[in-house]
Amino acid sequence: MRIGFIGLGIMGSPMAANLLKAGHVVTGYDVSSQRVDQLAELGGKGVASAVEAVAGAEIVITMLPDSPQVEEVAPLVIEYGRPNLLYIDMSTIKPETSRWVARKAAETGVRTLDAPVSGGERGAVDGTLSIMVGGAAEDVEAAGPVLRALGTTVVHVGPAGAGQTVKAANQLVVGGIYGLVSEAIVLLEASGVDPGAGLDVLAGGLAGSRILELKRHTMVKREFNPGFRIDLHHKDMGIAVAAAREAGVSLPLTGQVAQLVAAARAQGHGSLDHSALLKVIERLNA
Ligand code: NAD
Repeated sequence: MRIGFIGLGIMGSPMAANLLKAGHVVTGYDVSSQRVDQLAELGGKGVASAVEAVAGAEIVITMLPDSPQVEEVAPLVIEYGRPNLLYIDMSTIKPETSRWVARKAAETGVRTLDAPVSGGERGAVDGTLSIMVGGAAEDVEAAGPVLRALGTTVVHVGPAGAGQTVKAANQLVVGGIYGLVSEAIVLLEASGVDPGAGLDVLAGGLAGSRILELKRHTMVKREFNPGFRIDLHHKDMGIAVAAAREAGVSLPLTGQVAQLVAAARAQGHGSLDHSALLKVIERLNA
């Protein structure tokens, strides 16, 4: 497939590399020319504008930071994409923005999917992302071979915007678990119990989770290299709170976790990994 890829950051760059490895022809663009050069070194074609990345592509993928960037780039994809183009936005953005993109694209016959991911940089590099896809069933099927080059779990979760709603649910669960693991570490240490040994037991029992499996050692050692930055999780908690409001439901724990993530950012930890939520819980007790 000829694929246009826009947004070659921490996630987009290894994802584009996996598409190249799978035999696709990838033309990539990023506002950072350094990122474009990296793609060219991997065998892709680097270009100097989004419009050039879209020209002639059968599929266009965007992997951008947030809704405003998608609102800027999506109209170009729709205007300059060839008829019947399949446009897959894999950024984490507001569900309402994904629905707006889908409505705008429908006017010109461009097919769209929202397909945010979970699994972090490691999952992007290894091609083992979890991908939650919103859109029409036949378009999800058409995107299947490309999405399976990026992830091992690809699930069609509903119509346009549904992928983003599932991602918001994912992020509120992840944030909540980080908050509780942080509280467990603070309790164990304050009680004179070795947190490493304590969390090893938790990881093997009902409290076990992927977060405990992957992050307990670095959290106990206070190593917070990103990974997934607090700044991005703050954005995602905002999406979750707004989605709850739009759906007319009350999510009290989500609200509290959103405030803790906001505190982490306000305390200057925005560029640390989201496991640095531990710093906020520690500060509450210092
Ligand atoms: P990033 O900031 O590393 O990458 C975004 C890239 O988009 C940057 O290289 C930036 O230069 C580029 N960009 C910004 N505006 C642009 C524009 N108008 N045109 C072209 N390029 C533009 O972020 P990331 O970590 O790769 O995350 C991308 C998305 O994936 C975000 O929505 C994030 O929430 C989501 N996500 C990230 C992770 C993670 O672990 N990093 C995991 C799951 C989902």
